[in-house]
Amino acid sequence: MKRILTLIFFLGCVQTFAQSQYEKDKIKELELARQMDRTRKITIQIDSAIRLSDEGHYEAADLKFRSILKSIKSVPSDLTYHFGKNSFYLGKYRQSVDWLNKYIQLKGTQGQYSEQAIEWLSKAEAELMKEREKESKHAAQVLSGDYYIDCGPTGKVVCPTCKGSAVVVKKNYFGEVYKTCPSCHKLGYLTCDEYNKLLKGKLVTSD
Ligand SMILES: [Zn+2]
Repeated sequence: MKRILTLIFFLGCVQTFAQSQYEKDKIKELELARQMDRTRKITIQIDSAIRLSDEGHYEAADLKFRSILKSIKSVPSDLTYHFGKNSFYLGKYRQSVDWLNKYIQLKGTQGQYSEQAIEWLSKAEAELMKEREKESKHAAQVLSGDYYIDCGPTGKVVCPTCKGSAVVVKKNYFGEVYKTCPSCHKLGYLTCDEYNKLLKGKLVTSD
């Protein structure tokens, strides 16, 4: 009797074990199928973004690439090349250099797009350099607003806002309205301090 009970217990265990194993396999299978489906959908999206880029729709391609990047956990290496190249066409050179470098780091010289990636990278770097030069030239410009202007012995300057007339013309829905000049308080001229403040956009005006 005891042996039979043991046997029944044993068989029960085997069955439970087999069932849970079966369930685990089933879950794994479903997970795998779900993953493959995701990969397939992302591949389709990547292909469509690349096509948009190839056809010259760089903005649309950029939007699509970005939405793909948001939805995936790991970025396929080919995507780094295509996104980098598309960024060049949009004039986003820093972004372009960044992603093309990624591709080269990942694939070295042996990747499907290595040669093109190196070419695009050097173009993007050249453009980026030009931009930086422009920026530094811009920064080096000397502007009058940074200095205090000497207004001469009178210490007065004809008000630039109203050209000395003390009134300004404003347009509204009903036509033109004459208003007292907000800069010079009906005087038609500014003191040198006021003039310098006006140049710097710091003159407090009454409206
Ligand atoms: Zn004025």
